[in-house]
Amino acid sequence: MALYQQQELNIYNSLSGKKEVFKPINEGNIGMYVCGPTVYSNVHLGNCRTFISFDLIFRYLKHLGYKVRYVRNITDAGHLENDADSGEDRIAKKARLEQIEPMEVVQKYTIDFHNILQKFNNLPPSIEPTATGHIVEQIEIIKEIIEKGFAYEANGSVYFDVLKFNESHDYGRLSGRKLEDMIPNTRELAAQSDKKNPQDFALWKKAEPQHIMRWPSPWSDGFPGWHLECTVMSSKYLGEQFDIHGGGMDLKFPHHECEIAQGEAATGKNPVNYWMHANMLTLNGKKMAKSTGNNILPTEIFTGDNENLEKGFSPSVARFFMLQANYRSILDFSNEALLASEKGFNRLLDAYHLLDELKPSEKSSFEVAAWKQKCYDAMNDDFNSPILIAQLFEAVKEINTIKEGKSQITAPDLEELKKTMSDFLFDVLGLVDTAEAINDDTGNKLSGTIELLIKLRAEARANKDFATSDKIRNELISLGIQLKDGKEGTVFSLD
Ligand SMILES: [Zn+2]
Repeated sequence: MALYQQQELNIYNSLSGKKEVFKPINEGNIGMYVCGPTVYSNVHLGNCRTFISFDLIFRYLKHLGYKVRYVRNITDAGHLENDADSGEDRIAKKARLEQIEPMEVVQKYTIDFHNILQKFNNLPPSIEPTATGHIVEQIEIIKEIIEKGFAYEANGSVYFDVLKFNESHDYGRLSGRKLEDMIPNTRELAAQSDKKNPQDFALWKKAEPQHIMRWPSPWSDGFPGWHLECTVMSSKYLGEQFDIHGGGMDLKFPHHECEIAQGEAATGKNPVNYWMHANMLTLNGKKMAKSTGNNILPTEIFTGDNENLEKGFSPSVARFFMLQANYRSILDFSNEALLASEKGFNRLLDAYHLLDELKPSEKSSFEVAAWKQKCYDAMNDDFNSPILIAQLFEAVKEINTIKEGKSQITAPDLEELKKTMSDFLFDVLGLVDTAEAINDDTGNKLSGTIELLIKLRAEARANKDFATSDKIRNELISLGIQLKDGKEGTVFSLD
């Protein structure tokens, strides 16, 4: 195993609030679980950022030589609308509005989710289990928790007894909340009179007559509570104790707090060693929300079809933009920021392509080994991608001065530089080299076809037929092909 031993990997653990040296439970192997999407609508751009953050982590752990089992679930059983224990099931609501089966909703948005993440060049997880595929296991773990005395049945529903659990365990240790601060508002209280205490949460809910997604259980025809599926699917595929659990910052409470409680109640063991939380994405300095119009869909970035954007950007540029911030910081999305990222991304790729043209010398004025170490130091410091990217730009400077003949590099250093740039740009950051992507036979045919369309578009423009020229450009964009007009004619790039 080719583990890089230059420095230990440090991970910020939300549980301790500190960076800790990472030690896997089984040497060389890592079990990682990330909460996946609830598939009742198009995937949100903020969620894409979370999944890109964990894709970076997955890629780097693999790059270090670890064997990683990455499990990310699909929530297809539907949460209740207000994320508490009352309200309408989100998937069922969408099914009612669109007059289709709930599983059609699930299918439609699961495909959308996969398509978008593939565009961003995210690697698929090792296992992608669904909540509805694990109802039997969820019922079994509820039985165990009842048996251990940490849950009770009331009117066909089963609730987790938070106060009882807290007598012997520490409920709130992940989110840093105190029990008395966790009482929901009184309006919700009235609707949840079955509970012994307002802090209790549902493990099983009895279905109302109109509720479509339901399963038989020892307590009632109903459906599992929101938090249970992740406990069940993580422990099934990664064991009762595993290394890394991730998700968006907003899931820390109550979702992840409840996961810890369920796991400890069922097995007596702390389920997760390192909790990791990715921060949110804002748009023009404000929270994204469909209701205020301060919102952007991932596909709108690619087409530019959104009032917040002046043009479309390739998925690699959008991905690069997200990785220019640390996953734990809030990141603000804007047209200007994307334009700057596009420039930076092109500078990086241009310099990378220049490497093939550099002539080696007898001596090196660029210390490649020391630079490479700094790249690893950045990533070993809690996956600090912005620092890594700053190091890659240091290399860009060097490459350009070598090209200008103002400094030198030896043949072995040049090889090392090329390999390290490629490793970090493509394997770790997951960016796509657009020039490489069309460098095969099909690619040649494709670029010939696009050149033909560029010619037809130029003719249409010369004839002032702007309807046709715009149509060609827009249709190409929707296929992921960007045209850029410049002094020397039009060039194209692929997403
Ligand atoms: Zn989860």
